[in-house]
Amino acid sequence: MSDIHRDTLQLAKALIACRSVTPDDGGALALITSRVSAAGFRCERLDRGSVGNLWAVHGSSGPLVCLAGHVDVVPPGPLEQWTSDPFIPTERDGLLFGRGAADMKAGVAAMVTAAERVARGARARGSIAILLTSDEEGDAVDGTAAVVSTLTARGETIDACIVGEPTSTERFGDTIKNGRRGSLNGKLRVHGQQCHIAYPERGRNPIHDAARVLSELVSTEWDRGNQYFQPTSFQISNVHAGTGASNIIPGTLDVAFNFRFSPESSTSALQARMRDILDGHRLHYDVEWTLIGEPFLTPRGALVDTLMAAVTSIAGVQPSLSTTGGTSDGRFLAPLAREVVEFGPLNDSIHKIDEHVRIADLEPLSVIYERTIRQLLM
Ligand SMILES: [Zn+2]
Repeated sequence: MSDIHRDTLQLAKALIACRSVTPDDGGALALITSRVSAAGFRCERLDRGSVGNLWAVHGSSGPLVCLAGHVDVVPPGPLEQWTSDPFIPTERDGLLFGRGAADMKAGVAAMVTAAERVARGARARGSIAILLTSDEEGDAVDGTAAVVSTLTARGETIDACIVGEPTSTERFGDTIKNGRRGSLNGKLRVHGQQCHIAYPERGRNPIHDAARVLSELVSTEWDRGNQYFQPTSFQISNVHAGTGASNIIPGTLDVAFNFRFSPESSTSALQARMRDILDGHRLHYDVEWTLIGEPFLTPRGALVDTLMAAVTSIAGVQPSLSTTGGTSDGRFLAPLAREVVEFGPLNDSIHKIDEHVRIADLEPLSVIYERTIRQLLM
């Protein structure tokens, strides 16, 4: 058993034992602070509200390579369904079980031990930073976004950022995320006029109006995506209309919808096209928008190529680049960091009962992070 394996496994277990149900860090940030301080990192807590945030830096010259992630976890769900206690790290059949094992305490453990080894070794140039939050699985308002706004206000920049989220899907090392789609929520209210269903001419049925417009919206091609992104997707998540009575035409209909959009469509372009379609049907409506995140992309370049080479040689798998999946904290880092990628262990058990990570993947994961940082700082 190598030191890297033992050290990373021990830290992963210590982190799982921290009951860090979002936005509580469960003592995980203090644990990491004491470790990385001993390796020479300057640690700063950038907490906001009930959220814990750690910014730790080793070195004072550029370029700056940052390892980022979260120590919070989603709630375990029904405890009686877990084979072992979700907050007691348990090894079984080559797997390490516990809430957050895959999402993303294994990644955090591997990043921290990698950063410590780089900090303790000699290097030609540059600095290493660790950015950790306890608010990724929750509102994600006071976490990475808050740290990024503090760093931006100070004029700090990040050259390359690796987020240790679990990105592998079938086999360890098979997927690197080099971007994410944007996410835009909308709430549409279609106004009609309530009346007795036997006298439809006395009112206006918003359900009939909406049926035509929704069918056009769902069949619209918003864009065709590009080499890195799927086409933009429009999905309806909720529809509500009706009073419950069978003899009333309701006065309004509410629709909630979401765009997962590629950089081929801007937020304002999607909003304008939507308005054109609604106006084309002569609807009376209001629409409210909430931008969850802009899309971002890190094309092939120093970071992607260096990480791909490290994964290929250490995991023995040629990783593919992907921008699928939900939003991540990468969206907050992208405006500050010149390059952002996400790479980590298998994600098949995340947020599930009996979440786990493969123990044999911990050492290669840490070595991949270490080699990538060293290469970037050569
Ligand atoms: Zn995560």
